Amino acid sequence: MLLEAVRTTQPAAQTPKTGAAGAERLARSLHGPLITADHAEYDQVRRVWNKQFDRHPELVVRAANALDAAHAIRHARQHGLPLAIRSGGHSLAGFGSVDGGVVLDLARLTNVSIDPQTQTAWVQPGATSEVLAPLAAQYDLGLSTGDAPTVGLGGLTLGGGIGFMVRKYGLTVDSLLAAQVVTAGGQLITATETEHPDLFWALRGGGGNFGVVTAFKYQLRPVGTVLGGAIVTPATRQSIRAYTQLALEAPDGLTTITCMMKAPPLPFIPAALHGTLILLILAVYVGDLEDGRRALAPFTALSPDTVDLTQPMPYPAIFDLTRGPTVSSHHYGRSTFLRAFSDELIDTLLEHVEHGTSPLSFAQIRPLGGAFARVPADATAFAHRDKSYMVTLINDWDGPDAYAEHEVAHHRAWVDTLWTSLRPHSSGVYANFLEDKEGDRIQDAYPGSTYARLQAVKRQYDPDNFFCINQNIKP
Ligand SMILES: Cc1cc2nc3c(=O)[nH]c(=O)nc-3n(C[C@H](O)[C@H](O)[C@H](O)COP(=O)(O)OP(=O)(O)OC[C@H]3O[C@@H](n4cnc5c(N)ncnc54)[C@H](O)[C@@H]3O)c2cc1C
Repeated sequence: MLLEAVRTTQPAAQTPKTGAAGAERLARSLHGPLITADHAEYDQVRRVWNKQFDRHPELVVRAANALDAAHAIRHARQHGLPLAIRSGGHSLAGFGSVDGGVVLDLARLTNVSIDPQTQTAWVQPGATSEVLAPLAAQYDLGLSTGDAPTVGLGGLTLGGGIGFMVRKYGLTVDSLLAAQVVTAGGQLITATETEHPDLFWALRGGGGNFGVVTAFKYQLRPVGTVLGGAIVTPATRQSIRAYTQLALEAPDGLTTITCMMKAPPLPFIPAALHGTLILLILAVYVGDLEDGRRALAPFTALSPDTVDLTQPMPYPAIFDLTRGPTVSSHHYGRSTFLRAFSDELIDTLLEHVEHGTSPLSFAQIRPLGGAFARVPADATAFAHRDKSYMVTLINDWDGPDAYAEHEVAHHRAWVDTLWTSLRPHSSGVYANFLEDKEGDRIQDAYPGSTYARLQAVKRQYDPDNFFCINQNIKP
């Protein structure tokens, strides 16, 4: 199985199913460019964020509008080709490309149209947090998205969207008002609470299973200047126990995302901590800044060695902190939800992170609660509203041997071993944090009756399972 994750060094030796005439016909019908294997841009546009997936599609449709999406769907169906949908290309499982198939690339669709009166925005799926946040900030508004600036709002939203304002404003889908969707049959429809309500429910967590979303309408929220930045503190049993409790008890305005890792030799981390286990707490407080300082005080007092780098900042500036560490790399991770951190669990995490296999072997903790938890579990297809923490074990690596089988096995084993220890204490998984070989966990992503309900929507909108390059809901 491991070999499947390793780079295909040569383009798949398949006879193109489209043929030159078919490609020409498709190209003529499109408003955006069609990229074939002989095109100068091919090598660039076939790639995705997770370098472990080095695939060679037959065609890449760089869509300019919804009509192009419909043409790509029709072409793929007519020629029996698999279709991969891509917005920002950050699928951890590499679903944004497909060997020998069609990639429907929506990355050029980045328009954002804000109505300050209604505080709403129509946003195309190729837009990212770093595109939307500064535009919304002009009106002191924002959207609760993810933690990385370059993740596409297409994939992020359809999975749920958990980020720096999840406790204040819930998931990205909790602010979704409408979605324009090109269906498997090539029709353009709008889904809202009242139009295609089942589809609208499914789009809020069910991923790319039901159609191609070409625009989202979001309710923006008041954000303005936030208190944000990093807090660095030694990772010990005591500090982790205290942090995980404090983060849940904090006011809703405060969301933290924390990496338990070996301190990298960065200038803002005291030299004495370099190479030791730390909690790198990224914090955002939305609301009155004095209230924010009070909310953060217990975190900055976690240890005499704690370094507090939080400060008032425009909300978009928080993404400057995550831009560097989230550039494209080789990646493997596993994620789950926890209700509590026992001392035994904390010790296991500490022991394991101490022996990471790369400088970016870490455990990420996202305390939830707040507005996220007040949405009823059956209101959206993301149904983990009762979960307290999301914990993700992450290994990112790079370098000349990054594809080598022994290297890949080494890094994956680090994650899998820790994951096995965590499993008895955990339940469920966020669909957007599933990896490529975790299809057997799909029902963990959709607990209770959620999966069956998604299947019913799938049968209605995509009975042939045409949209199957994804965390797949079987009709
Ligand atoms: C560095 C990094 C940081 C991340 N941080 C967070 C985070 O803080 N919070 C969080 O919630 N998630 C986070 N994620 C996970 C991320 O939300 C998912 O990987 C998401 O699917 C990426 O969206 P994308 O559009 O960039 O990816 P793509 O690879 O383009 O798309 C992923 C999948 O989504 C579906 N899809 C995408 N666009 C459309 C569309 N327009 N219509 C229909 N289906 C579509 C397709 O099935 C596609 O295979 C992170 C991922 C990375 C790599």
